[in-house]
Amino acid sequence: MSELTRLSVDEMRTGLLTGAFTALDLTDAHLKRIDATNEQFNSFLTICADKAREQARVADERIRKEGSQSPALCGIPIAIKDMLLTDGVETTAASKILKGFIPPYDATPVAKLKERDSIILGKTNQDEFAMGSSNENSAFGPVRNPWDPSRVPGGSSGGSVVAVALGQAPLSLGTDTGGSIRQPASLTGVFGMKPTYGRVSRYGVIAFASSLDQVGPFARSTVDLAYALDAICGYDSNDSTSMKREVPAFREELRKWEGKSLEGIRVGVPKEYFIDGNEPDVQAATQESLKTLEKLGAKLVDISLPHTEHALEVYYIIAPAEASSNLSRYDGVRYGYRSPNAKTLSELYSKTRAEGFGREVKRRIMIGTYVLSAGYYDAYYRKAQEVRTLIIDDFKAAFNNHCDVIAAPVSPTTAFKIGEKAQSPLAMYLADVFTIPASLAGLPGMSVPTTLDRNGLPIGLQLLGAPFTESTLLRVSQALEHAGNFDTRRNCS
Ligand code: GLN
Repeated sequence: MSELTRLSVDEMRTGLLTGAFTALDLTDAHLKRIDATNEQFNSFLTICADKAREQARVADERIRKEGSQSPALCGIPIAIKDMLLTDGVETTAASKILKGFIPPYDATPVAKLKERDSIILGKTNQDEFAMGSSNENSAFGPVRNPWDPSRVPGGSSGGSVVAVALGQAPLSLGTDTGGSIRQPASLTGVFGMKPTYGRVSRYGVIAFASSLDQVGPFARSTVDLAYALDAICGYDSNDSTSMKREVPAFREELRKWEGKSLEGIRVGVPKEYFIDGNEPDVQAATQESLKTLEKLGAKLVDISLPHTEHALEVYYIIAPAEASSNLSRYDGVRYGYRSPNAKTLSELYSKTRAEGFGREVKRRIMIGTYVLSAGYYDAYYRKAQEVRTLIIDDFKAAFNNHCDVIAAPVSPTTAFKIGEKAQSPLAMYLADVFTIPASLAGLPGMSVPTTLDRNGLPIGLQLLGAPFTESTLLRVSQALEHAGNFDTRRNCS
């Protein structure tokens, strides 16, 4: 049944509706694939085999009753990043401090998938509390890149991208705070989208930096990505930053554009993203993609986003500041790990946190506490918020006056070796230089796999849009996908 793990969502849906196979067959095939590969790649932290089979039986029943009226993702397996709470299933954010924590409810995106009777295969590995760009900051070991197991898959959603690339799941969810969907998608050759801030509910999503965090899907094609977006987007009164905006029918919209040119689409090319530090193959691949866009009928426009160079500094003030506040709840009293070595209340807090958090998380808490402290707040935090506004204004000016989408590299490099940047936080932070600006501006962004570098490692193209223009990004992605020959279904491992 191994071929079942390489199908598109449309093919799975057809198979389920015609009775060629059942949701249980699909689920078993994916569980088998996970079983055969997880030891090597470490992409899943928790595998929900029994629950998944039970859900598959329910989905099969629903498909028998409702046929084509059943939801599009009924019976389709999906993997969930361990940042999203799952009712009754251990959720750790890949941190020792949450080891053993069993949430009493589902995050809204998970609840929405369950309403549709999608199959939750398990929880995927990630950087601890989503802080990282390589998945090496997981308390439960690194994830390996299927294109070269000596390399990182990117991060922080490393397990979720590897699940999709390896055929352990056709779809998965990740979170993106500064690039954690787009960067790992690029480094493993899958499609990944961070929707507009406010498009997907953050209710039940473990908070890292609340003004930046956003949930989004991974898939092996644009259409599959659209199916996942259809399921998870929408207003939720449980999240005060969730937006009351109509959600387009993304899958349907794509049907309209299939085979059509990109006539009328203006693609902004920001000069600040084409820097000397980019690997030559990344630079060349991006130029090649721009040519393809032009051939497809799009118009290229040179633009400037002048405050780009400050985005990294701004992010590494605001994100740690919010994290230091959000992570104060892990005190050994309410959830997860509690130090057995504490004699007083104050020791309970300090020892639990000292033993429970990993190095990078502690570094962020210290930076965040520092930039928020009296005497430094104005110099760092307030200043960063002011520069954030300038970055937002750069994008506004570009989208109001010059272009409909922006195209740029996702990351200056392809997948690096495990351990290569682990000793230098700064080198690691630089991996996000092209994804962070759009996060600060709350914009939708995606990575479209386009080609391989000279070492056979995937390269993605980043597409960014004005708020709530996910459909336009998908339209451009679909055109690029069809014009190119990147095979996301190929067994890379
Ligand atoms: N790599 C960035 C960080 O470490 C972004 C992470 C993310 O988007 N969650 O903060």
